[in-house]
Amino acid sequence: MAHALFNKEAKTNSPLAPTAAPVELGRQNQVFNAIRDTRRNVEINIGKACNNRCVFCIDGLPKREDRSYMAWEEMERELRHWHEAGTRSVGFLGGEPTTYPHIVQAIGLARDLGYTRIALATNATKLRLQHFTDKCLEAGLTRVTISMHGHTGPLEDKITRVPGVFEKKCDAIRYLNQKKKEGFLADGLSVNIVLNGWNYRHLLHMMKFFYLDLELDDLRINFVRPEGYAEGDPDITPRYQAVVPLLRKALYAMETAKEFRGKTFTFGGFPLCVLPPVLRDNDALLKKYMGEYRDLSTDCSVRQDGDGFGIEEIKDGRSRFNWQDRKRFDLKHAPDACHTCTKVALCEGVWKGYVDIHGQGEFQAI
Ligand code: SF4
Repeated sequence: MAHALFNKEAKTNSPLAPTAAPVELGRQNQVFNAIRDTRRNVEINIGKACNNRCVFCIDGLPKREDRSYMAWEEMERELRHWHEAGTRSVGFLGGEPTTYPHIVQAIGLARDLGYTRIALATNATKLRLQHFTDKCLEAGLTRVTISMHGHTGPLEDKITRVPGVFEKKCDAIRYLNQKKKEGFLADGLSVNIVLNGWNYRHLLHMMKFFYLDLELDDLRINFVRPEGYAEGDPDITPRYQAVVPLLRKALYAMETAKEFRGKTFTFGGFPLCVLPPVLRDNDALLKKYMGEYRDLSTDCSVRQDGDGFGIEEIKDGRSRFNWQDRKRFDLKHAPDACHTCTKVALCEGVWKGYVDIHGQGEFQAI
């Protein structure tokens, strides 16, 4: 099937939009970084049912059919398809993948096929159940990325809209950390914070809490993507100019605080021109901290019954696309300034929903 990116219907204002021969998607669309994990990764969406209701959830209110789980036969087919294509890293996400009835079986099949990095992107609520976590680990799970957005009960419960979820997540992290010390989770245990209008002022406190109190080694912050529940909401979506001073303090702490030595911190979703020159002009710092420089080349597989949009390919009821291309060509906007900017190879532009809320006045060509 011809890739939609190269059809005349494809719409993008990105200055990186291809005009001649197509590049091989997912292979040449990232700037080289020697410390990037070179394994090709696929994220398989098991369905959009979730036991949290985060205020910025991009799925908002999923249709009933979107909440249904993918059939086991479909999972088996996807795992085999991507493995045959050379992919050796797989992540399961949703919705909430730990509620998928076949998740342990899926982890086991991934290991048997030869995937070497097998990850869950989870809210971790269910991982507090030690017998369930043990089954996932024994089946071959090598990495857990936990969505958690607050360092206190009131903040986490308010953002996820589930009373008591904070303590459950903390219990899960403590147990996963214990298992990691026993030799499991070779590819890491990470917390992924969506930085939004309700939590960004607490970034330094969150770092202390996760690194020091919960003894985590790896934190990722992603700037909120204003879609789904958060669409059009300036309360949930702060301006970059308000958030960047906190990001700068966080990076200063990473570079200087002895308590944080050896910890990993990355950020994603910040256009380069909103970053202070001392950071955006320092390639070594960017390679160390900027998610777009660090992330694996990632493809996605998501249920799709309709026509889809943009670069996705649809086959057998699944939409398949490369995540780096999806962001750049379909989900992000290239402000006018990008057309004369020297940073377009690395910078993906800005979430379209952000421009709808705050306009494009903050962005300037570098
Ligand atoms: S002008 Fe555009 S490409 Fe350049 S740094 Fe800003 S958002 Fe990125």
